[in-house]
Amino acid sequence: MKIKFGSIVSAAIVLCCWTAALGQSSKHSNPWEPAEISVIPPIASLDSGVWLKGDLHVHSRHSKESSNNPIAKILHFSKTVGIDYLAITDHDNHVLGDVANNTWVDPEFKSDSVILLYGAEWTTVRGHGNSISAIPYDHQRLYDVRDQRDVVIGAVKKGLGIHLSANHPAGPKDHFGYSYDIVESMEVWNSVVWPKNANSILIWDDMLSSGRKLTGRGGSDTHHGVPTGTEQETPNSKQAQYNYVGTPTTWVYAKSRTPQAVVDALTDGRVSVSQNPYAPRVEFYADLDRDGTMDMMMGDNIRSTGEVVAFRVQLTGKTVPTEPYTVKVIKNGSEFQTFKMKGDNPMVEFTDMPATSGRTYYRVTVEGPSTPYPEVPKSTEMSGNMVGLSNPIYFNFDPNF
Ligand SMILES: [Zn+2]
Ligand SMILES: [Zn+2]
Repeated sequence: MKIKFGSIVSAAIVLCCWTAALGQSSKHSNPWEPAEISVIPPIASLDSGVWLKGDLHVHSRHSKESSNNPIAKILHFSKTVGIDYLAITDHDNHVLGDVANNTWVDPEFKSDSVILLYGAEWTTVRGHGNSISAIPYDHQRLYDVRDQRDVVIGAVKKGLGIHLSANHPAGPKDHFGYSYDIVESMEVWNSVVWPKNANSILIWDDMLSSGRKLTGRGGSDTHHGVPTGTEQETPNSKQAQYNYVGTPTTWVYAKSRTPQAVVDALTDGRVSVSQNPYAPRVEFYADLDRDGTMDMMMGDNIRSTGEVVAFRVQLTGKTVPTEPYTVKVIKNGSEFQTFKMKGDNPMVEFTDMPATSGRTYYRVTVEGPSTPYPEVPKSTEMSGNMVGLSNPIYFNFDPNF
């Protein structure tokens, strides 16, 4: 058999190139790998703010499928149960985007005790989201752009300077079908029916695990009030016994008692969610140098130093001292540890060393005895033993991601 010299050369070239290619692939470096983060902003004060409780998803009579729920009734109720802030988020498609000349100009849209945020439920073919703002903005532009590419929507939202939040992200009929890169938060606890939020929690952990510092919040999504005076009962009126303002309640640690501070706290993730306005608040802190003084809280992000960190979970408010509360710690999307706590001021502490390379986050859920909510008397039947949940404490998350 004659072997052509040319074939040998070709084979050698192929072999040589193949070897080189192999060598190259073993040296591949992914330019998108998390890099050393140059600057993480300092942690804000842990004691100069104010805890405020509210509901970020409420429908008034300006949503066409609501019943017996004028704004004055919502606000009167909110004041009665101690709600500090409220986002009345009527369906924008019911007024073709013109919420500014419907909900916001309603003479009842004013309060001397409740901080009123400007917003609407952005109600689109691909899903629902709540826009939230401290001041009026041009909502019509967000409505008009709803079917455009996400990159266009994101730019419009940024231009409006508003907070956008994904609603009932895993809803079977109206899941959130947009990129989560256009939102600052997501509704991880929609309405009083806690168990139906399981898939939203999965989405949240996926977003967090992939480096997105995304706030989890609650929203009652209430539509129906208790008929009073001359109002007529509707087939939906009974819902007000189960689900109304505050089921669940979203707590924010705001720098001051102003609309902008509420929105900022929401964006920053200094947020926890409780079963109702009377239920205890979940607080989650970290003590970086283990000197007994807490250095950061939910929503805060810092570089891991390789030191062991002490974490503290506590319930603040009225608890049931005779019954145990179960605290589950979730680390990077997986269950990490479970604790029991009991007493008038229940608290648990644990330690762990967040990795120095790569991101780590911890968040907690608390289950236990439910707290009666007499104004929404049947709500505790639906929320079961879910007491509250925290937002994460973050390590090595890139603030410019
Ligand atoms: Zn909705
Ligand atoms: Zn809604």
